[in-house]
Amino acid sequence: MENPVKGTHDIIGDEALLYTEIEERCKTVAALFGYQEIRTPILEHTPLFLRSVGESSDIVHKEMYTFDDKGGRSVTMRPEMTAGVMRSIVSNKLYAEADLPLKYFYLGPCFRYERPQAGRYRQFHQFGVECVGAPSAHLDAEVINLGYHCFSALRVPVKVKINSLGDEESRNNYRTALKEYFAKYIGQMCEDCKRRYEINPLRILDCKVPEDAEIVKGAPKLRDYLTDSAKHYLDQVLAVLESYNIQAEIDDNLVRGLDYYTGIVFEYHAEPMEGLADVGALGGGGHYAHLLKDVGGPDYEGVGMSLGLERLFHVFHHLNGDLPDSFGLDFYVMPMEPKYIGDCAVLVNQLRFNGMMVDMSYEPKSFKSQFKTANRKKAKFAIIIGEDEFKKGEFTVKNLSNQIQTKVRGEDIVNSLRTMLQEYYDSMEMKYFEEHGNE
Ligand code: AMP
Repeated sequence: MENPVKGTHDIIGDEALLYTEIEERCKTVAALFGYQEIRTPILEHTPLFLRSVGESSDIVHKEMYTFDDKGGRSVTMRPEMTAGVMRSIVSNKLYAEADLPLKYFYLGPCFRYERPQAGRYRQFHQFGVECVGAPSAHLDAEVINLGYHCFSALRVPVKVKINSLGDEESRNNYRTALKEYFAKYIGQMCEDCKRRYEINPLRILDCKVPEDAEIVKGAPKLRDYLTDSAKHYLDQVLAVLESYNIQAEIDDNLVRGLDYYTGIVFEYHAEPMEGLADVGALGGGGHYAHLLKDVGGPDYEGVGMSLGLERLFHVFHHLNGDLPDSFGLDFYVMPMEPKYIGDCAVLVNQLRFNGMMVDMSYEPKSFKSQFKTANRKKAKFAIIIGEDEFKKGEFTVKNLSNQIQTKVRGEDIVNSLRTMLQEYYDSMEMKYFEEHGNE
């Protein structure tokens, strides 16, 4: 009982701050691209996912947290967010807007009953976007580019892999070819593949069983079955990406695990880095021609992508280590004697109201232990307050990185401290650019 549910995890303190930082940067990028936030419920009616994510997908087949609520209705904790966004577009008639496409971003927890391993949780978090109602290779490229910008904003180098599932005609021809090819092997393949063979042989390409991988390698390639118009669309998307300096790599086996995708599909993978374990795709997405219609809306096409925040965190942390000092406190206020605790608390309150990150201990503590706490809380400055300070109306402020002490006049303390802090941040920025170049 004292352990978290298997496959779930707590995010605490510095780690939570890093998550917030990652989330904020992604949200900023979405705003730069003109996407608005949408928040949908975690619980949805189960049929929504059957109709969208699809019964041939592993997600629906074996990974959903589905249960009957007390009213006897089958509900599911969302395994992904796109279906809920589509449902919301229909419920709220958002499609009636004059200006299409609709552009939304989202962020929140998702749930899949998967086997926990590195980069794979049962509760994880996704940031993503959906762009619905105006099919265009430019919008497919925009969504791919938006995800790419998120990684750039976090300085995480990624490769974009892309493929086209083609139009209806391409996929039908390809399915027939796959069935013919796998017919002679299916008896020796895994149970999942046997099921996939019957409902959607495309899913077999996604099989992770090593013995099956050899057979999959020899399968016909989707690209050989694409119609001219599907090929042309893929070329258009590649050309737009190229004009944004994104070199996407075509990956013939990329089919994605959700049934609603048609046409363009893509994934983001971290560039290989020393010491970085592979945690799978950092994100992915694709074009869906019929999803909105399938959940009861008009026949609008759309494109979306989502990034897994845990995997993003994993790579971001690998590159940057623990929190930089700028995440710590600005000031730690230290009463020299317990009788000054009340005055210190008033000063702390005043500084906080003026937008500075400040803390102190309300317990009587030795000077040494207060300095230790200040360092552990990564405070940039300590403000020391004793009898002298009150008599002369002067405060001693110590820069904890170079140990230099300065006297600050009491009546002007807020402005003086703000200036000191600004100078500190400016010097940090200089140092940062000296180390990283002025990108
Ligand atoms: P998907 O919805 O399957 O296309 O997944 C999109 C992204 O969500 C993946 O690229 C991962 O980064 C993340 N993701 C999917 N499943 C999990 C999981 N079980 N644990 C952690 N992250 C996941």
